[in-house]
Amino acid sequence: MNKEISCTNLVQEKLELLKQNTHNTVNSLLEDLALDLATKIDAKIEKGQEIGLLEGIPFGIKDVYMVQGTLTTASSNLLKNYKSSYTASAIQKLLDAGAIPLVKENCDSFGHGSSSENTIFGAVKNAINPDLVGGGSSGGSAVNVAKEYTVFSIGGDTGGSIRQPAGYNKIYGLKPTYGRVSRFGLMAYASSTDCVGPIAKSIEDIRIVLNVISGKDIKDQTTYASIEILKDNISKNNTIKTIGYYKNFIESEVISSDIKSDFLATIDKIKAKGIQIEELDFFESETLVSTYYTLAMAETASNLSRLDGTNYGSRIEGDNLKDTYSITRSENFSEETKRRIVGGNQVLSQGFSDEIYLKSLNLRDQITANFEKDFNKVDIILSPITPNSPPKIGASLNNPLTMYLSDAYTVGFSLGQLPTLTAPKGTEIGIQITAAKKNDELVLQFANFLNDIL
Ligand code: GLN
Repeated sequence: MNKEISCTNLVQEKLELLKQNTHNTVNSLLEDLALDLATKIDAKIEKGQEIGLLEGIPFGIKDVYMVQGTLTTASSNLLKNYKSSYTASAIQKLLDAGAIPLVKENCDSFGHGSSSENTIFGAVKNAINPDLVGGGSSGGSAVNVAKEYTVFSIGGDTGGSIRQPAGYNKIYGLKPTYGRVSRFGLMAYASSTDCVGPIAKSIEDIRIVLNVISGKDIKDQTTYASIEILKDNISKNNTIKTIGYYKNFIESEVISSDIKSDFLATIDKIKAKGIQIEELDFFESETLVSTYYTLAMAETASNLSRLDGTNYGSRIEGDNLKDTYSITRSENFSEETKRRIVGGNQVLSQGFSDEIYLKSLNLRDQITANFEKDFNKVDIILSPITPNSPPKIGASLNNPLTMYLSDAYTVGFSLGQLPTLTAPKGTEIGIQITAAKKNDELVLQFANFLNDIL
């Protein structure tokens, strides 16, 4: 380290950029906390003590993670004054490693959306073209990284919310294998697919952050112990022999001709390196999207039932308790969130649950079995991230169904709980690299390989 800049100066510089930014990425700044932590790191440097890899590195946090004493709003009216009483496990690990949190970042309310327009803090603007959406739901996090307001950000991905905004802003975003990173302290959207993951500008940054936040946590029974991913293992010569892609994703009527031709050109370049290509069959986009949304809505209806103005949330008094619940929830949830709560309660209700909810669980099992079969044949599955490039701000709001269908290529991998990464390569909005469960290392290795050949 050549001490060209102090940690305090670095943090001040980034805080200033965040304050002045016009992309609506900030819900609240953690200025006092950040400067206090920076002073401590500077003192360590002054004393000549050893500094860890992440010590003093400024990062951002999607505003759905608890950080004790700070506002955690989920970009909602309901929680706009809610202060966390504890810190999420993944964030605590980063704090323990000396990273410095700067900001709680704008996102779609409760993760409900694909554009970061469903928020009380104003639509997030794309880092490359501010007339376009930032993507969602972790839009503020992706834009902050792309604009270098943060070095990395922690997003959340239930059905694509890290990968899609990473693609729209041309950076890396990883959804790790479900259970690799603890969800404790992440505000629950759909618990069976919610994943915590890093957004960053390089594969190396993704690797470093992933290693720190991974691991078994007694506070989240779905977590498992994983081994550290070593730099050497992901930068050594490519060990991948076969990759596959889903024919129906590429032959779909809705994919833009540019994304399709760029994707196929990328496949040709990979083939030219001696890697075997398999065309695979998969479920139709409509089946994937409806299975995902049925389950996600059911789970969010259950998870959000605790937000009634009594235990949590801004309360609006009615004539009696029932009225109070109902006014609090009707006035404070967004239209999109209410659509999901109503839909979720409907599919869980007696008379509907067998036909809809249980059928979706069954389809999910079939999707998982299909992945197992495919990963017996191929090492990696490649796909575009979305069928189209980012829409203009305002264009998606009137048509929720179109927005749901834009998630066609990301939600299947979420239902399968697979590790999957957006790399800003291969098409104008990047490419999605997916491996079998717990094989996050292979995803990063292939990303390095793509970097070398594209
Ligand atoms: N766009 C998807 C949805 O609205 C995914 C969101 C997410 O991953 N949080 O459900």
